[in-house]
Amino acid sequence: MKAIIIGAGIGGLSTAIALQQKGIDYEIFDAVPENRPVGAGIMLGGNAMTVYERLGIGEAIRRQSMFPENIFIRNYKGKTLQHVSNVYIRQRYGQGAHMIHRAALHHELIVATRQPVQWGKKLVKIEQSADQVTAFFEDGTAASGDILIGADGIRSVVREQYITHANYRYSGQTCWRAIIPMTLSHEEQINGSEVWGDGDGLRASYMQVNQQQVYFWFTKQMPANTPFTDAEAVAFMQHELAGFSGNMPEVAAALKPEMLLRADLYDFEPIDKWYNGRIVVLGDAAHATTPNLGQGASQAIEDALMLSNCLAQTKNYTDAFHSYQEQRIARVRKVVEVSWKLAQLTNWKGAVATTIRDMMVRMVPNRITQQQMEFLYNVKW
Ligand SMILES: Cc1cc2nc3c(=O)[nH]c(=O)nc-3n(C[C@H](O)[C@H](O)[C@H](O)COP(=O)(O)OP(=O)(O)OC[C@H]3O[C@@H](n4cnc5c(N)ncnc54)[C@H](O)[C@@H]3O)c2cc1C
Repeated sequence: MKAIIIGAGIGGLSTAIALQQKGIDYEIFDAVPENRPVGAGIMLGGNAMTVYERLGIGEAIRRQSMFPENIFIRNYKGKTLQHVSNVYIRQRYGQGAHMIHRAALHHELIVATRQPVQWGKKLVKIEQSADQVTAFFEDGTAASGDILIGADGIRSVVREQYITHANYRYSGQTCWRAIIPMTLSHEEQINGSEVWGDGDGLRASYMQVNQQQVYFWFTKQMPANTPFTDAEAVAFMQHELAGFSGNMPEVAAALKPEMLLRADLYDFEPIDKWYNGRIVVLGDAAHATTPNLGQGASQAIEDALMLSNCLAQTKNYTDAFHSYQEQRIARVRKVVEVSWKLAQLTNWKGAVATTIRDMMVRMVPNRITQQQMEFLYNVKW
């Protein structure tokens, strides 16, 4: 069997590595002209790290990343609302969350793929026949295989044109991210925090991703496409974070306009159909989620292993696609919905509402937190 993979993001590259482990041939294509070290940081959940361990690249990724021992949710006055022991998660489930620069993650994934990514290949059309599927690219070239895997992200052409239509939802929040050259104190390196402001989606976080660089992110409720120059955004964030306790204002003071990446945060309503004939989708193309649980890429990585397992178990691709969808859909749907609700919770407005919100979050029983960990990190397959 040969697969055509469209998209060399985290989902597509992880799929390539999983397929090659099963001895399944593939070619992988991406629209961007070349691999450029872009992106900010990312948290890879313990579940993603478990998959990477099984794909034989866990150690390489651990070497490029940081392991925070604790992750706190605090309010801007410094009060702890929730605490997750990453050390406990690692003890119980084998792997904890790792913070990594996206460029370092992409580098490790590309090093591990035996087939080179074919850059500058924008998919424009797909044709399927009784015995093959062909991808046509904007540059006039084409590639054929037995199946086509669309790992082409939230705005997936593969999904929209060949499987099903998705209804996008704007979370109400925009997000700026940055990599800041900075080394935090040991105390701050091992104790990462997400800090909640006084409503309107205001949140910020900074965590070390390697010895020299810190990943910073900031969210705020506002209409999509609200115009901001990067310089205005820096001034805006510094103003919003000025009253935060701890080192947040100092970290914000180190932001520079050229460091910023902006994303209005969208997901889409869950879809029921992930495949059609020889074509299947995974990652954000199948189930984009808002980043509030830090699980979008982690779920794409889980998809990669599950799809390749299913393809290795049968020669019938329809059975494999069906089994993959059946085993993944309920889990990712829950991630998408919990993450969406979290965004809406942080969108509450006003001092009274946010005080109640913070109390509610503080009082979440340990039993519920444990259940959520069990759900996210206990990857049995
Ligand atoms: C602000 C923010 C913070 C996040 N933080 C986290 C986090 O901490 N942890 C986490 O797990 N997730 C996080 N996520 C989510 C995560 O980034 C995504 O879930 C993940 O990148 C999805 O990977 P993917 O490979 O499915 O899609 P993408 O990363 O979108 O990759 C799609 C690829 O397909 C290519 N492509 C698109 N169209 C075509 C075409 N027509 N032809 C050829 N190629 C094409 C693109 O160039 C791209 O390389 C975050 C997301 C955001 C927005």
